[in-house]
Amino acid sequence: MSNVRKVYPGGVTALDDVSLSVSPGELLAVVGPSGSGKSTMLHLLGALDRPSAGTVRIAGHDVDALPDRSLSALRARTVGFVFQQFHLAAGVSALDNVADGLLYAGVRRRERRSRAAAALERVGLIHRAHHRPHEMSGGERQRVAIARAVVAGPALLLADEPTGNLDSASGAVVMDLLHDLHRAGTTTVVITHDRDIAAALPRRVALRDGRLVAA
Ligand code: ADP
Repeated sequence: MSNVRKVYPGGVTALDDVSLSVSPGELLAVVGPSGSGKSTMLHLLGALDRPSAGTVRIAGHDVDALPDRSLSALRARTVGFVFQQFHLAAGVSALDNVADGLLYAGVRRRERRSRAAAALERVGLIHRAHHRPHEMSGGERQRVAIARAVVAGPALLLADEPTGNLDSASGAVVMDLLHDLHRAGTTTVVITHDRDIAAALPRRVALRDGRLVAA
């Protein structure tokens, strides 16, 4: 991101002149008080939204220069998202929730399901493949959400408070998983309020009132 500003309709300036470069293979924490612009930054890094000013470049593509369709395609190919609230489809098995992560990747159903099984294996939950979200613990749900985020093999994984709804033991399992994915080559950005989690990551950036400050 170079000199990025984000002003929401209504006039809130959520990011103000933010420049940040994340290199391939990095693992970093984004910290800062509530309302400081962390989620906004993650949305822009993942091309879910466009900046009001400045430029965002993802894997060499200038987000501003891309029409919406190309932006969606870039997102589907390059970025995986994990959210605090998991955002799994209710009443749908873990396997199908993960397989849905390939809906926009142009993969046939049978291959979607076999790749979903491999992703569940990777997060240690293949034995839960046919369970639905309400039959799983919070930590398991988040691991399913992570499997869905990585099933298409994204270069970039963006996690917004991934442990925010979990007890500390489940949170530790989720963070171990993110460390594993990072070691396997995924560039990973994690928003967290948890000081211990932030301290355990190789790089931290801090936001305050929409500006980057020393971490
Ligand atoms: P954080 O993730 O650090 O809590 P956010 O990026 O969610 O911060 O929010 C930064 C600021 O932008 C806050 O003042 C918030 O109220 C505002 N904001 C966030 N999303 C929207 C939106 N969709 N519309 C209007 N204002 C928003």
